[in-house]
Amino acid sequence: MFMILKDLIGNAAVMMAGFYVLGKMTNDPISIHSNVREKFRVGYLTAAIGLLLMLFSIQVTDHVMIDLRHVPVMILAYYGGFIPAITSSVLIALSRFLFGINESAIMAFGFMLSLGVIMSVIGRYFRKGRYRTILLMNIISMSIITGNLYVLLPDIENFREIIVFFWLIAIPTALLATAFFRDIQNSKKMFIKFKNDAKTDFLTGLANVRQFDNTLNELISSSNRGKQDVSLLLIDIDHFKNVNDTFGHDAGDSVLKQLSELLQRNARPTDKVSRNGGEEFSLILPDCSLNTALNIAERIRRAVEGHTFLLPDGREINACVSIGASNLNEAVSSRDDIFKRADNALYKAKTTGRNKVCTIV
Ligand code: GH3
Ligand code: MG
Ligand code: MG
Repeated sequence: MFMILKDLIGNAAVMMAGFYVLGKMTNDPISIHSNVREKFRVGYLTAAIGLLLMLFSIQVTDHVMIDLRHVPVMILAYYGGFIPAITSSVLIALSRFLFGINESAIMAFGFMLSLGVIMSVIGRYFRKGRYRTILLMNIISMSIITGNLYVLLPDIENFREIIVFFWLIAIPTALLATAFFRDIQNSKKMFIKFKNDAKTDFLTGLANVRQFDNTLNELISSSNRGKQDVSLLLIDIDHFKNVNDTFGHDAGDSVLKQLSELLQRNARPTDKVSRNGGEEFSLILPDCSLNTALNIAERIRRAVEGHTFLLPDGREINACVSIGASNLNEAVSSRDDIFKRADNALYKAKTTGRNKVCTIV
């Protein structure tokens, strides 16, 4: 009889390993907000875990096998809702027939189908805490399985021990698997967050200088030098120090945020807007001639000039920017070249009056 206990523990271990692989094979943490394709994909992958659990299931009699295949469906119903839960339960239900078609398989088929529906409904409408919901789902599933086994197993003496072991393993395992699944989900969320933070400017949400460098380098190495036009604008707020000195640092921050929105509104959808640091911004313009870049720069300059910046205390101020523009060509072919040219042009704008667009020809 202890063989059954041992096998059930093995089954639980297989499930944990399955969840780990599932975590590796999905991009985002699964939730009811995931897109439909991802939900189906997680459904298929969970069905694969169910199939694996059946392969390692405990053969109680020639026809009856028990395992924890209902647990991943419950967890999926809780996290991903109807689509992944129903997809996995239908596939697990069908694949039960791979292990023979008999009365037990037909009952297991019906059980899995109803399980998908019941668990989805509980996950959606009777949602309490994570562990309480999973516990409720598990008690309902285990009660149905127990009822099924009662019909299928004629040997009552044997039956009691099997059921006791099954409940003893299934209840804590489902809770443990939930904790394990949640941990994988959280690691994924953290990873995505850190990855985004590493390339995003904290204040404005624009690309930061690291992302700016990556984009510019990629674009230059993929652009067939001279054939694809790449232009660059470096944008610097004029006398920004005065804003901080007069109105405070928070006012300065709010100007930076409003300017970033204004830049995005005035850029083309394909342009990359970054905050390169402090009050310096940039636009990388793929497929853009110097002339077009100068037009866009002028449009931005005018938009900033005409914009009224609203400060946190309700006061309103105006600001203006100087812009240096450069373009990739035979003479300007590397990242450093195009950047230096734009920077020199910006310097020229600063030293010849500010609130203007300059380029070096
Ligand atoms: P110029 O026209 O020559 O560009 O003058 P400027 O005052 O804009 O340039 P300067 O380089 O002298 O000063 C830049 C100022 O930007 C100094 C600094 O306090 C401010 N600054 C940099 N980063 C931030 C920030 O994150 N928030 C705020 N509020 N101010 C910042
Ligand atoms: Mg500056
Ligand atoms: Mg400045």
